[in-house]
Amino acid sequence: MALLYKSDPDRGRRWQALFAEHAPDIEFRQWPDIGDPEDIRYLLAWQPPEDIATLLPNLEVLFATSAGIDQFDPGVLPDGLPVVRMLDPAIEQGMIEYATFATLWRHRHMSDYVRQQHDRHWQAHMLVPAGRRRIGVLGLGQLGGAIACHLKGYGFQISGWARTPRNLPGITTHAGVETLDAFLSECDILICVLPLTRDTRGVLDHALFERLPQGASLINMGRGDHLVEADLARALDSGQLSGAVLDVLAEEPPAPDHPFWHDPRILMTPHVAAMTQPDTAFPVLLENLRRHQRGDAMIGQVDRQRGY
Ligand code: NAP
Repeated sequence: MALLYKSDPDRGRRWQALFAEHAPDIEFRQWPDIGDPEDIRYLLAWQPPEDIATLLPNLEVLFATSAGIDQFDPGVLPDGLPVVRMLDPAIEQGMIEYATFATLWRHRHMSDYVRQQHDRHWQAHMLVPAGRRRIGVLGLGQLGGAIACHLKGYGFQISGWARTPRNLPGITTHAGVETLDAFLSECDILICVLPLTRDTRGVLDHALFERLPQGASLINMGRGDHLVEADLARALDSGQLSGAVLDVLAEEPPAPDHPFWHDPRILMTPHVAAMTQPDTAFPVLLENLRRHQRGDAMIGQVDRQRGY
């Protein structure tokens, strides 16, 4: 029985060592050296091969190396193939760190100070107490929920929005599209940690920005296609938004002439908010492999109909 790994080759070497040490009964193979495809029962991938259905006839589970699975084309996956996303604790930690950094960056006017230093300009901006700063988190799942709870510790007013009602201590939660307006009207800093689905694609658009308080900030750490980039530019130009932090872009990397490269109101990072780490992800994956072998439910199995 073999597991095929198809992702970053450097981290593949570490995955291989972990399998050899802790699960020698599962043969680890690294793409493109797949050996006899009939042996492969499990695929661990960022992006599966396009001919997955014919190439791997005995595949039993597709494990994503990522928390999101929007990069998978449902059209090429065999019907009924279980898809499991990665719930590596290092991803949660990375997302918390990034959200904290980006929130404080906006909260404490850091982009203004970077610009001012460049211009040799010495000017203080009024400090807003954390208790008066309203932070809104779009998506209150594994990652959004952890971010909301962590930021609460700084004394911010935190609210969050999900599809279904969530109960998080000290956090005002909203559920469903009918509550979106009320939620948005109280977000000075909006953090998007939604999964990318047919319902959430393009959610960060002109209509949404118009419902935020004037001068609000946007932090997108979900997926690039959540954002309508032209609408962000327009909202920044009009002053409806004052700045943005984007870890994800529709095209990664953005084209050399993309206007965001040179826009001082936008801080861009190359999709680095969180990264799967083999050492912390391996126990999670192995637990799921053993669960599957015993016929138990796996943790993080995606609802393929719902898209997350
Ligand atoms: P999750 O546990 O599945 O949570 C998703 C949350 O979004 C849930 O609260 C869900 O509502 C809500 N949601 C989904 N569709 C919605 C809709 N149509 N309307 C309102 N709320 C909706 O996912 P997660 O583990 O937190 O991960 C979220 C995303 O973060 C991933 O899919 C990925 O895109 C992104 N991510 C980015 C990075 C990076 O490096 N930038 C790293 C890791 C992950 P319910 O609670 O009601 O189901």
